[in-house]
Amino acid sequence: MSRQLTRGALAAFVLAAQFAVPFAQAQGFPTKPPTMLVPFAAGGPTDTVARVTAQAMSKALGQTVVVENRPSNGGILAPEAVKNAKPDGYTILIHHIGMATTPALYRQLRFNPLTDFEYIGLINDVPMTIIARQNFPAKDFKEFLAYIKANSAKVTYANAGIGAASHLCGMLFMSAIQTDLLTVPYKGTAPAMNDLLGGTVDFMCDQTTNTTSQIKGGKVKVYGVTSAKRVGSLPDVPTLDEQGLKGFEVGIWHGLYAPKGTPKAAIDKLSAALQDAVRDPVVNQRFADLGATAYPPEKATPAALGAHVKAEIEKWGPIIKKAGVYAD
Ligand code: ASP
Repeated sequence: MSRQLTRGALAAFVLAAQFAVPFAQAQGFPTKPPTMLVPFAAGGPTDTVARVTAQAMSKALGQTVVVENRPSNGGILAPEAVKNAKPDGYTILIHHIGMATTPALYRQLRFNPLTDFEYIGLINDVPMTIIARQNFPAKDFKEFLAYIKANSAKVTYANAGIGAASHLCGMLFMSAIQTDLLTVPYKGTAPAMNDLLGGTVDFMCDQTTNTTSQIKGGKVKVYGVTSAKRVGSLPDVPTLDEQGLKGFEVGIWHGLYAPKGTPKAAIDKLSAALQDAVRDPVVNQRFADLGATAYPPEKATPAALGAHVKAEIEKWGPIIKKAGVYAD
C-alpha cells in the first residue's frame, strides 16, 4: 500500500515537473511564437477575428502569434486541446459564445470552461445576419418567413454544428418562428458559406465578420440582423425585431484563454497585448468594417472574461435546457 502511494506520488511529481514552468522563464515570456488555436475552419468568422487579433498582439509581444485552425463540428475539439496543452502561455485559445453554450448542449463535454482555463480577456462583440443563397425565392423577410414555413420539409439551414454560434442563432430562430427545419452541419461557416454560394444549401445565420462582404457584393440575400440596433456597416439591413420577431437578439462575443496553471506573468503579458490590440485604431476600423465592436481595454482582462463566461453560462443554460437540444 505504502509502496503504491510512493509510486503514485512519484508519478504525480514527474507529471508536475514536466508541466511546471519556472517563474524566471515566464518572466521572459514570450521567447518564441505563441500559437492561437481556432475551433473552426480557416476563412470563417472566428478565424477572421483570430487573425486580426493575433497580428495586433504580435506587435506588442515582439513575437508572431501563429494562428492554427482545429476545426470540428460545434468547435469542441480546440478547447480540449488547449486544456491539455502545456500551461506555459505558448498555446492559447480563441473562442466565442460557444464556451458558454456547450456546457448545456453536451452532457459529455471533455472540458469545463469554468475550471480548466486561465482567462486572458474579451475581444469583441459580433452581430449575426440571416442570409440565403442568391436565388432564394423570397425578396424580403416577410416572403422568406412565408416560404420557409410552407416548405419546412425541404428548406435546408447550414450551421457549424451544435455549439456553434450559427447553431445557437438557428435554434433561437426556429423557436421564434415555431418551425423546425433541416440542418446541415459543417466544421465552420467558411465551408458552409461555400455551399451557400454554390446553392447547395438554402440559408444560414452567420456572423457579420463572415457575411458583410458577400452581402455587399450581392452574392447572397440578406433578411435581417440579429442585434437590437442596426449595424453601422450594413445600415440598410433591418433588425429581426423591427420586422416582427420582437426581442430577438443574438450577439456573439469572443475571448482568449490559456490552459489552467499558466503562470500569471505570461497571462499578464498576453492580456496586456490584447489590451493594446483592442486599443489599436487599425483593429477597431477592421472590426467596424465587418460589423464588429472591440471591447474597451478594461474588458480585455482575465477578471472581465471570467465574469462574462460565468454570467453567460448562467444565462444560456436554462434557455438551452428548456429548448431540449442535446448534442450527445
Ligand atoms: N464561428 C464559427 C466559424 O468560425 C461558426 C459558428 O460559430 O457558427 O466558422
